[in-house]
Amino acid sequence: MSRSLNLAVIPGDGIGDEVVTEGLKVLDAVLAGADVKVGTTTYDLGARRWHATGETLPDTVLDELRGHDAILLGAVGDPGVPSGVLERGLLLKLRFELDHYVNLRPSRLFPGVETPLANPGTIDFVVVREGTEGPYVGNGGALRVGTAQEIANEVSVNTAFGVERVVRDAFARAQARPRKKLTYVHKHNVLVHAGHLWRRTVERVGTEYPDVAVDYLHVDAATIFFVTGPSRFDVIVTDNLFGDILTDLAAAITGGIGLAASGNVNPDRTAPSMFEPVHGSAPDIAGQGIADPTATVLSVAMLLEHLGLTVEASRVVDAVSADLAERGPAKRRTADIGDALAARVAGA
Ligand code: ATP
Ligand code: MG
Repeated sequence: MSRSLNLAVIPGDGIGDEVVTEGLKVLDAVLAGADVKVGTTTYDLGARRWHATGETLPDTVLDELRGHDAILLGAVGDPGVPSGVLERGLLLKLRFELDHYVNLRPSRLFPGVETPLANPGTIDFVVVREGTEGPYVGNGGALRVGTAQEIANEVSVNTAFGVERVVRDAFARAQARPRKKLTYVHKHNVLVHAGHLWRRTVERVGTEYPDVAVDYLHVDAATIFFVTGPSRFDVIVTDNLFGDILTDLAAAITGGIGLAASGNVNPDRTAPSMFEPVHGSAPDIAGQGIADPTATVLSVAMLLEHLGLTVEASRVVDAVSADLAERGPAKRRTADIGDALAARVAGA
């Protein structure tokens, strides 16, 4: 039975364009053999549009995005846009409006990839970061700004509803993996109100998953284990801010930002999920054709997996794995990496 995929593509700024081109190249190659037609609509959003029109995410565009099966994003931003404009006006708005309450960030140390760790062991875990609550909701304010008496509040919002749904998602993911292990990370000795809600929720939902082994780490201890023994991790569930910080560390131990993929997922499928490399628009290397598109290609694999195309998703991941093993530490050009990966998935 033939199937069609309707994708929205937001290349964005800087290297966003360059890496998305390669991601789509690999997507086309892996689906060429399958009976799947891909239609893409490209949306011009990001710094370029903001400079030209002052718009970040017009409602009409948001409505159109809702009509797609999934969204592929490159990266947005440039140094000329004030801090927070695109984060709040575009990226966080998409997360809130499309209810991307699971921010999924897998970390795998592929053979041949350099890591700063002396004894990395096997690294293969996924961080389930809460995506719509915590200190990111914009609940706060400042008094006496600019004076010596300034008071700035940034409130971390944690609701029973929001914590439960992400914890449930993490348990389900842990159960589906061979090791069936869930580590929840917080700081409940100090952040007692939010921490205790998280702890009680994990304990309660955990009774429905007796085959999943659960452990807890304070976030500071978790950073130590990321460096001294990351093979202990399988699925990690944590709040929005801790997840942000931990996943940058996770990228650093598994070959860096050029390889880190992510998904902003709406598990209930009430709106399209969005897949993107963790890195930004990298203005320092934009336009040179040297950005590594691998993180975007791995994000494409996550997109395929989310849409149920699991065979194709594994073919993309296997191609990346084989390519990295062969490539070693050598630097290659953006398009050469994309071509090599496209050839591998097509030949598989
Ligand atoms: P943002 O605020 O958008 O997250 P940032 O300033 O944190 O941006 P990035 O744009 O991710 O940072 O870039 C951080 C560093 O990593 C830069 O030196 C950049 O050149 C490098 N970098 C980012 N992405 C890639 C990539 N795909 N390939 C190679 N180098 C990259
Ligand atoms: Mg960054």
